[in-house]
Amino acid sequence: MDFELSEEQQRFRDSVSGFARRFLQKGALERAHSDAYPHDVARQMAAEGLFGIAFPESAGGQGGTLMDAVIAIEAVAASCPRSADIIQAGNFGPVRVLAEHASEAQRERFLKPLLAGGALISVGMTEPEAGSAVTDLETTATPDGDGYRINGTKVFTTHGPYADFILAYVRFAKGIDGIGSVIVEKGAEGFSYGRPTRFLSGDEWAQLYFEDVYVDAEQVLLGPGGFKKQISGFNVERIGNAARSLALGRYAYDAARVYAKERTQFGRPICEFQGIQWKFAEMKMRLEAAGLLLYRAASRADGGVPSAEDTAIAKAYCNRVGFEAASEALQVMGGAGYSLDSLVEYCFRRTRGWMIAGGSVEILKNRIAEGVFERRFRQRP
Ligand SMILES: Cc1cc2nc3c(=O)[nH]c(=O)nc-3n(C[C@H](O)[C@H](O)[C@H](O)COP(=O)(O)OP(=O)(O)OC[C@H]3O[C@@H](n4cnc5c(N)ncnc54)[C@H](O)[C@@H]3O)c2cc1C
Repeated sequence: MDFELSEEQQRFRDSVSGFARRFLQKGALERAHSDAYPHDVARQMAAEGLFGIAFPESAGGQGGTLMDAVIAIEAVAASCPRSADIIQAGNFGPVRVLAEHASEAQRERFLKPLLAGGALISVGMTEPEAGSAVTDLETTATPDGDGYRINGTKVFTTHGPYADFILAYVRFAKGIDGIGSVIVEKGAEGFSYGRPTRFLSGDEWAQLYFEDVYVDAEQVLLGPGGFKKQISGFNVERIGNAARSLALGRYAYDAARVYAKERTQFGRPICEFQGIQWKFAEMKMRLEAAGLLLYRAASRADGGVPSAEDTAIAKAYCNRVGFEAASEALQVMGGAGYSLDSLVEYCFRRTRGWMIAGGSVEILKNRIAEGVFERRFRQRP
């Protein structure tokens, strides 16, 4: 078993780290506190070849691996935690589902502007009555001529108020096999937003209302029966989510380590207190263990898609460890860590959300338990 990055992976990591230090380190704090999606960073990353890293070249990607995309998240987050979200947007979420399932015409119309960093896509999956139980979703797609009429409401769509496209999960018919997805464009007639609000992380979301929104046939990404394909793509999204949790936990850990060497109380650097040393020993053990689980899931990805069990274990553990490291790092830094001029408080707020988003820690543990007992457990009464 080899736990080291290959020479090629190390070269890639070094080159992305250099890019991040040169262009992203400055302004990292402002970016973390800015409401706006940093389109300038997205375009720069796209030009640098950091979008579509693991997509085939035929889909406009770089022909790399899922592990390369994880390396890019880590290298960028070490200089600018917020910019790791832009690597996610260009590699892991709905953009990846598009790269996998879009027709030639759909690639031209939707994927191309996304991979150029000029457009933004969000996922509209969650509904007021369908959170963890996502297959309860009620947004409907009803045939109308060559296209469909969409009716329903989505909640918690990150960047929803200003995304150019929404990949909306919709119901063409009853049951899981009736679920698929369509791409709704900003400005479409009948598509409106509720009052924008924010997550603890600062990211904006708004309730999305679809009232008889017309989508043409080309806007249907996956028709009835598409849900299972989408959920397998979701394992990729979860790897990006796990990678960011871990990367932000590491960022906070590093900041606190530097601080603990310099900060003096009672006439000694605080790293000389055993109570502080043990915090770092715990953080280090857990961050390293989480890294191994993440790399295992990413590097064993078969055909670019990691297994559901590897992903559940990696995400649940990275989510928890990333948040705990950020929380402990903040504690080590005292008032300086809790202050808005420290990126550590941002890491603390940001990592908390990933314990809920993209499959909560509890839902992932349900999936892990199914592997333990080699059977499915129905969650419904
Ligand atoms: C930061 C953030 C970003 C998000 N971005 C998006 C987005 O871009 N697009 C989108 O569609 N959605 C997004 N979401 C929504 C997210 O997918 C949902 O919040 C998530 O699926 C949980 O649904 P819920 O909030 O309705 O909680 P619920 O499903 O109501 O769950 C409440 C609690 O009960 C637990 N629970 C539920 N069922 C079980 C069970 N069977 N066993 C054990 N525990 C259970 C949950 O883990 C949770 O702790 C985002 C959420 C967050 C926090």
